Amino acid sequence: MDVLFSDETIAAISTPLGEGGIGIVRLSGSRAVDIAADLFEPAGNPASLRDVETHTLHYGRIVSDGHPIDEVLVSLMRAPRSYTREDVVEINCHGGVVATRAVLDAVLRNGARLAERGEFTRRALLNGRISLDQAQAVLDIVQAKTSLGLEAAVDRLAGRFSAAIAGLRTRIADLLADVEVEIDFPDVDVETDRIRPRLVSAIADVGRLIRQADGGRVLREGRTVAIVGRPNVGKSTLLNALLAEDRAIVTPIPGTTRDTVEEIASFEGVPVRLIDTAGMRDTDDVVESVGVERTRNAMARSDLLLLVLDRSESWTSEDHCLEQETRDLPRILVRNKADRPKSPGWPPAADDTVAVDVSASTGDGIEGLRATILECLVGGEVPNRSGVLMLDTWERDLLHRLRDALVGTRASLDVGLTPDMVSEDLRSAYRISGELQGIDVSESILDSIFARFCIGK
Ligand code: GDP
Repeated sequence: MDVLFSDETIAAISTPLGEGGIGIVRLSGSRAVDIAADLFEPAGNPASLRDVETHTLHYGRIVSDGHPIDEVLVSLMRAPRSYTREDVVEINCHGGVVATRAVLDAVLRNGARLAERGEFTRRALLNGRISLDQAQAVLDIVQAKTSLGLEAAVDRLAGRFSAAIAGLRTRIADLLADVEVEIDFPDVDVETDRIRPRLVSAIADVGRLIRQADGGRVLREGRTVAIVGRPNVGKSTLLNALLAEDRAIVTPIPGTTRDTVEEIASFEGVPVRLIDTAGMRDTDDVVESVGVERTRNAMARSDLLLLVLDRSESWTSEDHCLEQETRDLPRILVRNKADRPKSPGWPPAADDTVAVDVSASTGDGIEGLRATILECLVGGEVPNRSGVLMLDTWERDLLHRLRDALVGTRASLDVGLTPDMVSEDLRSAYRISGELQGIDVSESILDSIFARFCIGK
């Protein structure tokens, strides 16, 4: 990690690049105001940016080497009342991508350095403006896929997890104090009755956090569902019905979905990546066989398969092969085209197979299918806002280690080990809770967190 951040003023485009809306160039650091002031030509009001009040907005132009670049609104937030706790200037450009880039270039030529990924947030962290937990919440907010995911991330920013861990850490410290007092009297047994109930309740609380983190993981990472079936059974139509919008091209010619189409839908706040696969059948058509290969890949990385069958037609050998091939995978048999008469001679679904009748084209049964999908993916337990925590993998690992350490303490207590042995696991629980609080977090963890950020955040 670079040190001496504060000597350098950093800049980046903080909005997604695209046509149309405004683009924001953000600067942070001790020279942010100077650099912006040198380039800014205020309209009407001759006051230099150097002299204006903090938290004010100014209209004018950015002029570089005598050339006007863009018409802008500049906002100025002086340290420490800013996102990074340094001087921050945001230049709202109006001229689209090219102008925004030109403004950034001008800023860089005038002494700012291009920010690294997440560097603004990293500075906010290093300057004590936010906790590590909150830094990650910022990332989750930026990357949230559904509104529920967003709410959970906002909650985290409010510090719910930090508060829970801080509480646990205090309780562990108290326990440790009680156990260690007895180390001075090694002949005395640990006062099990006083300690055990508090330990048990701490273990239960960590368990609850782990469950909430699992729910958060679902929200953050989502689940993947592949739609498979022979050509023309209605996979693309089903995808559209589940998305409730026309995304894949639907045609009556077999084998038109030659590639996989992926869309993310929100199932009661759970992001579900739906993959519409190519028709699964042996084919000499090169394009289509590539599609078949992709289908196999999609199946391999899915949490659930929807095996779509056309119940208005007779059961084919292709259906049979697919049914066999997917037998041991988590799947739902979707018997499509229920708006048409059912073809005779269909084999009954195996007892352990979930099967649903739908009509993808009329929408009949789609709501039920969505519920069944959710049931298969998250056991029907839809994470709700108060019940989830958005945590990173390393934090979930630490939570598991914390629980192990507490469970280890309880075991030592139960077999009547001496106080110093009981305190050993408790000490490591205390250490782990500190890591979870962001105390003594290793540089490599910090680097891995900020690598996930985009530049400009
Ligand atoms: P895919 O090749 O499996 O993706 O199949 P498509 O989604 O392209 O659908 C093939 C044909 O079946 C199209 O003509 C659809 O309109 C039709 N189709 C799809 N679902 C239904 C349904 O539920 N009922 C009826 N009657 N036709 C459907």
